[in-house]
Amino acid sequence: MEFRDIREEKAVDSLLHTLKEGNYKKATLKLGELRGRPEEFMKLFEYITHESRLQDLKLKIKTVKARVRCLSCDWKGDPEIVRNGVRCPRCRSDVKVLRGHEFHFEL
Ligand SMILES: [Zn+2]
Repeated sequence: MEFRDIREEKAVDSLLHTLKEGNYKKATLKLGELRGRPEEFMKLFEYITHESRLQDLKLKIKTVKARVRCLSCDWKGDPEIVRNGVRCPRCRSDVKVLRGHEFHFEL
């Protein structure tokens, strides 16, 4: 749930590249709930773009709620978020994540 390795993520690299090439004034990030917290990403973004051409860019973050399907009881809905991932809130089994890992930009 933290953005430990986000600077290495290709998505961030390619976003920054695109933003520098074009003359974008604003962008929206669609951020899956399971990728991290918006306020943490915002801090990181400000840190990365500080004193660069991108520091005036207005970034908006849209959070995408997580949704999963249980591999055991077939339950669908919000997962129970635990320390090292997510699980079924009903039977605590492993789940397949249907939504919540989004990380892309809309320009
Ligand atoms: Zn279940």
